[in-house]
Formats: sequence, C-alpha cells, structure tokens
Amino acid sequence: SSDEEGGEEYLFKIVIIGDSAVGKSNLLTRYARNEFNLHSKATIGVEFQTQSMEIDGKEVKAQIWDTAGQERFRAVTSAYYRGSVGALIVYDISRRTTFDSVGRWLDELKKVYSSVKGLVFWLVVVRSEVAMGACQPSPVVNLKRELTMDGYFAHSDTTVARMLVGNKCDLENIRDVSVEEGKSLAEAEGLFFMETSALDSTNVKKAFEIVIREIYNNVS
Ligand code: GDP
Ligand code: MG
Repeated sequence: SSDEEGGEEYLFKIVIIGDSAVGKSNLLTRYARNEFNLHSKATIGVEFQTQSMEIDGKEVKAQIWDTAGQERFRAVTSAYYRGSVGALIVYDISRRTTFDSVGRWLDELKKVYSSVKGLVFWLVVVRSEVAMGACQPSPVVNLKRELTMDGYFAHSDTTVARMLVGNKCDLENIRDVSVEEGKSLAEAEGLFFMETSALDSTNVKKAFEIVIREIYNNVS
C-alpha cells in the first residue's frame, strides 16, 4: 500500500476545455459521479471534482476542473489553467463549428503554457504529512523537485498530456464530423483521440484514465 512506500500519493490537475454545450460538464459528472444531466445549465459553484485510480499500486488522484460557462464569452482565464498537467479538448461530433474551434483552444493552451513556463508542475502529496498538517520534504520519489510554498512538490519540466475528445458519439444519426477527421487532427497536433458519449458512458472512463496514465508516465 502507499503507506509502505512512504505515503506517496499523486495529485494531478486536469482541465476540460472546448466550446459551450459540447458536454464538458457531463463528461466530468459521468466520470466522477456516474451522473448525466439532460438539461444541465452552466456549471454553478463547484470548480473541480476529484477522482482516484490506482496505477502501479499507487493511488493517483485527478483533480479535474470544469469551466463555469465562461467559455461562452471566450473568457477562460489563465488561473483556470494554472498548475494543470493534462487537458481534454472537447468538441461535439454533431456540431462542426465546435470542431472548427479546436485549433483556437489548442492555441490558447500553447499560449498559456508558454507564459507560465516553470509554473506548470505536477504535484506529489505526502499523505501522512498532509494529515499532520506539516510540510516537511520527505524522501519519496527519486526525481528532481522543489518544495513550493503550499507544501506540494513541484516539477517544472513536465509535458502536458492532451486528448482530443469527440463527444456525443451516441448522436450517430446527426453526425457532422467523421471519426477520420477527428483522428487526423489529433495526429497532426500530437494529441490522444477518443470519441465519447457522456449520455451512454461510451469511453468516458477510458478517456480520463488514458490522460491520467500518460501524466503518471511523464513524471515517474
Ligand atoms: P458544456 O457546456 O460543455 O459543459 O456542456 P454540458 O455538459 O452542459 O452539456 C450540454 C448539453 O449537451 C446538455 O443538454 C447535455 O445533456 C447534452 N450532452 C452532453 N453530453 C452528451 C452526450 O454525450 N450525448 C448527448 N446526446 N447529449 C449530451
Ligand atoms: Mg459546463
């Protein structure tokens, strides 16, 4: 267990971006709570949800952030992206305009990450120390790192794991973007790719877990 390995625990921040109404909030609630909402309004209140998975016998936590609807006004701020090490870029396979926007979202990611270089880090929390309220460094992971102000270990040369997600694949009858188009854009941009349905759960868990695994591989 993680206690035997010194209470090592991983916490990764992941952001979900993409045009309004592509299903970002429902992808998150499907993954984190196995819930779906047919009439979901713009997200109110909760900024992120946390979900854990086990990799190599270690608990890996993903803190997944959802916008509060500000993407409608093209007003997602850099604070939203700060500290994230993974991103899901979502479009709706039944609305081509949302696919056309992907390039703009990728540009925004690139812009944000080049401006906060050095602030992009992965986080390792030492469970026992957090429980005691202390923030002493402990010899946990054999990687170069620094201790930040808030007691997390930071690592600055991490790549961001990015996945292109074509959501609403249950709407095959009104499909507006082919699987091939999604795939080739992803290939051209060096992204993972997956079509999902938050409605019927297709590939939702898989999509998040691929990103989380990739981040883990990047840092371990
Ligand atoms: P957001 O604005 O990107 O967060 O999108 P929401 O999650 O709020 O979803 C917008 C609308 O699309 C809602 O009416 C959802 O019920 C619907 N929706 C979300 N995901 C799916 C899906 O996979 N399939 C279908 N058919 N509808 C979906
Ligand atoms: Mg939303």
